[in-house]
Amino acid sequence: MRKDAKIYVAGHRGLVGSAIVRALEEKGYHNLIYRTSSELDLRQQSAVQHFFAEEKPDYVFLAAAKVGGILANSTYPAQFLYDNLMIQANVIEAAYRNKIDKLLFLGSTCIYPKLAPQPLQETYLLTGPLEETNEAYAIAKISGIKLCGSYNREYGTNYLSLMPTNLYGPNDNFDLGTSHVMPALMRKIHEAKMMRQSTVTVWGSGNPLREFLHVDDMAQACIFVTEHVKAEKAGEFINIGTGVEITIRDLALLLCEVIGFEGKLIFDPSKPDGTPRKLTDVSKIHHLGWKHRIELREGIQDTYQWYLKQMEEANE
Ligand code: GDP
Repeated sequence: MRKDAKIYVAGHRGLVGSAIVRALEEKGYHNLIYRTSSELDLRQQSAVQHFFAEEKPDYVFLAAAKVGGILANSTYPAQFLYDNLMIQANVIEAAYRNKIDKLLFLGSTCIYPKLAPQPLQETYLLTGPLEETNEAYAIAKISGIKLCGSYNREYGTNYLSLMPTNLYGPNDNFDLGTSHVMPALMRKIHEAKMMRQSTVTVWGSGNPLREFLHVDDMAQACIFVTEHVKAEKAGEFINIGTGVEITIRDLALLLCEVIGFEGKLIFDPSKPDGTPRKLTDVSKIHHLGWKHRIELREGIQDTYQWYLKQMEEANE
């Protein structure tokens, strides 16, 4: 990528999009374009076509999506399926029509079958039934992978798909009804500490295993593959993760330690556990030459500092 290449980051205000913007700017890319969702509704085909025809970007990072944690996913399946199908179909088709060579599509490791062998290799896609709590989102993301692959096969484009494990970091969603586990527990434990409560409630049994990647590492992976990897070398898609997992219970304990909360954890079995385990096999991205840098404790410390700063600014 030339440093003056025109790069469209779709979803620039989200967790991943904002990290991609930070990382691109740090590397000296200075011709970035973006639109808020009120300026450009990516679910509207004609608006998206018009935007691409006018701006003609050289590269596209497709980080715009309807995302949410386990409760939001299972409560609003229609929105998760419809919004994501529309966003990705509109952006990918507009990119093709406007002769954009390289596009990066982002999904998640929830595309894998619920009971797939672990760690999850890219070849396990579509080998079994999906986890029910996020099936709609997963179906949309699988369609996105297939869309990119089909355009590459039929039209010779270079559209790559990355499937990150659970991400966390600055600009995450801290709304307890819709967030993922990391921001949810960070907020709950922080508030319990501030209010001198003796307990914090953790959803489910605490036994599920999850893998967490700091979003700044994810942004580095996005730029790395865009700069160095061609679609034919990437195959259908590439997992992005650390290859290290932790139980939800141990994650909660680590958060208590970093935040400085000495109370007890209470587990709420009325909330779903979701898939029991979701560990990515990261050998493909390692072979291509990329590895994560930020370990979990350090990443949590960094995110908690960001969270405290946000709280301070909101109170000023
Ligand atoms: P998932 O990885 O798609 O299942 O999504 P989440 O990040 O929302 O949930 C991961 C795991 O953390 C599930 O087993 C949840 O039940 C558990 N969990 C524990 N406490 C919370 C919480 O306060 N919020 C969320 N979203 N998940 C929680």
